[in-house]
Amino acid sequence: MTIKEFVAAQKGILAQEVASLENPPTLLIIQANENPASDAYIRGKIKDAGEIGANAILRRFPVDISEAELIAEIEKANCDDEIDGIIVQLPLPPHISEAHIKFAVNPKKDVDGFHPLTSFDPCTPKGIIDYLSAEGFPFQGANAVVLGRSEIVGKPMAKMLLKKNCNVTVLHSKTTQEDKAFYLAHADLIVVAIGRLGYLNESFAYKPSAVIVDIGINRGEDGKLHGDAVPGLPVALQTPVPGGVGLLTRLALISNLLLAVKEK
Ligand code: NAP
Repeated sequence: MTIKEFVAAQKGILAQEVASLENPPTLLIIQANENPASDAYIRGKIKDAGEIGANAILRRFPVDISEAELIAEIEKANCDDEIDGIIVQLPLPPHISEAHIKFAVNPKKDVDGFHPLTSFDPCTPKGIIDYLSAEGFPFQGANAVVLGRSEIVGKPMAKMLLKKNCNVTVLHSKTTQEDKAFYLAHADLIVVAIGRLGYLNESFAYKPSAVIVDIGINRGEDGKLHGDAVPGLPVALQTPVPGGVGLLTRLALISNLLLAVKEK
């Protein structure tokens, strides 16, 4: 099943679940930036919520809002029974600590899955694992390589793959080219999240049965979005960019929102 088909089918299931609830779930999106990419992501999240019959409320604050004021707004939402899930759109203005904001969100409403005490899985890795599970990917004992070790993508991805009993190797900018070639050639699953357009290409060898999941989003000289892998690598499955992991991440957010309502 393509990612688009998978996402459409899952949204149908979520919509049925929402229809069976007494009250539709409500997602609060807090924005304190003037970033056109964030605006586009937020539009997508509002559209997704609407498609499953959930409410999405956007609260925009000026970029010079203080950290204390923003935390006070989050705390208000933490105590508001009408709000089931809260996300704070990144990036934050430079004078506001991402870590402080992450800790301010009530873990029970933290549908982004960023708070260390939350039971929600972070959206990008969750979306990927849900899709691969639906595709029947045999996680147990599979050699998984994660390229990139950021707090927000690479590390949570590696952690979730470990939970699925993969043999996980995390590669980063200090890994030698020789070691990258070695690990990639033995990988059953390659998840790339480095933000380098077309970094994975035909110069590396891959198992023909391998699966490549491309998290990268890079703006090319052509003005279009491209992944970290060149399209059409000789593997069994490669996720496209755009129309790939971005859609899975969005799906995971609305599915966490439903979980937040069920676990209330
Ligand atoms: P990031 O914070 O910049 O981290 C990049 C990671 O890649 C770092 O760990 C870095 O290693 C590693 N790296 C950089 N160059 C490398 C190289 N040549 N070889 C191996 N590793 C290398 O980026 P991020 O937030 O994790 O995001 C990564 C990409 O995913 C970006 O394109 C971003 O736009 C995209 N993204 C997509 C979604 C989605 O929903 N589709 C969600 C989030 C992010 P060091 O640690 O050694 O510096």
